[in-house]
Amino acid sequence: MPELPEVETVRRELNQMIKGQTITAIDVRYPKIVVNPIAQFKQLLIGQELVDVGRRAKYLLFHFGDDLTMISHLRMEGKYQVRDNLQDFDKHVHVIFTLSDGRYLGYRDVRKFGRMEVVPRTAELTTKGIAKLGPEPLTPAYTYETLADGLQRKKKNIKTVLLDQQVVSGLGNIYVDEVLWQAQINPEEPANNLTTAQLTALYSAINDTIQAAIAAGGTTIRSYVDAAGNQGQFQLQLRAYKQDGKPCQRCGTTIEKIKVGGRGTHFCPHCQKLN
Ligand SMILES: [Zn+2]
Repeated sequence: MPELPEVETVRRELNQMIKGQTITAIDVRYPKIVVNPIAQFKQLLIGQELVDVGRRAKYLLFHFGDDLTMISHLRMEGKYQVRDNLQDFDKHVHVIFTLSDGRYLGYRDVRKFGRMEVVPRTAELTTKGIAKLGPEPLTPAYTYETLADGLQRKKKNIKTVLLDQQVVSGLGNIYVDEVLWQAQINPEEPANNLTTAQLTALYSAINDTIQAAIAAGGTTIRSYVDAAGNQGQFQLQLRAYKQDGKPCQRCGTTIEKIKVGGRGTHFCPHCQKLN
């Protein structure tokens, strides 16, 4: 699933490739992807100029004209493609926007879990899903205090709490495993049982890991490519996620894989002991 660094990479690519284009036609081939009634979706967007593409956590925010936002969540493996010809899209491309310069923006999603919805721009941050998101890394809203206070109120294990998006947003399975390895915290540790030293380490690990992953263009595990078709390179820097069976880069102990909250979880049993 694309996490914050992958969605940020897509956002940057889309701004480079299609910012300033006007939508001249829309072909919705799989209606469930679009939350609005299809006729309304088309009526709202056709004739609108894409002013810029923003982002909130894992949501892309396509800003049209003065007052419309198309919120797009890629979910498991949605991706955008910009092409010169319609024939360049395969059967997994479910929504196609014709652009004013003759190119096409296609939304491809093999598993069809992604969703897009047009809302008034004033409502973009209060829409279901976005409204409950916690502060995100690398922004002023994400502080040591907000992280520590948020975790103090959660009794569940730290892995589950970080995946939940309420205390801090943008991290999924890859980056939660990475930041817990970096901060030397056991994924099953109750969130309200972290020491001050662990909280300090975790706070920095989240910012540092997300920043490094954005700089690398995200992580390509299975099928992620950005809008220009490039693969991210952060998988070369992973130290926990999918590293089971390999030696820990800090202590040499073999990285193990367990299930935590139903999710595959990778950690070093020596560096990341329960408190
Ligand atoms: Zn280790």
